[in-house]
Amino acid sequence: MTEQPAATPPAETTQAKPAARKGPRGQVTIFSNWCKGCSICVSFCPTGVLVLDEDEHPVVAYPEKCTACHWCDTHCPDFAIVVKKIE
Ligand code: SF4
Ligand code: SF4
Repeated sequence: MTEQPAATPPAETTQAKPAARKGPRGQVTIFSNWCKGCSICVSFCPTGVLVLDEDEHPVVAYPEKCTACHWCDTHCPDFAIVVKKIE
């Protein structure tokens, strides 16, 4: 049995960029004058787009994570959040 030579790593490696997330994205708008701060949207957004600010009102902290699932705008009791599908 012949021994295989150990593989040597390439002298130079290129750093691959992380793949862009596929799938739909959404643009989230919060109408703060209508929002009562119930936090339903923050609690149930499946991707964690929204966080509460110091006044306990939602802000769009991670817009790039929105998948335009429309959970938040279909469940907001005050119609204070709107999501527009952008791709
Ligand atoms: S669900 Fe509507 S009213 Fe409640 S915190 Fe979110 S935007 Fe405001
Ligand atoms: S549309 Fe879905 S992913 Fe986007 S903010 Fe609302 S609940 Fe989160």
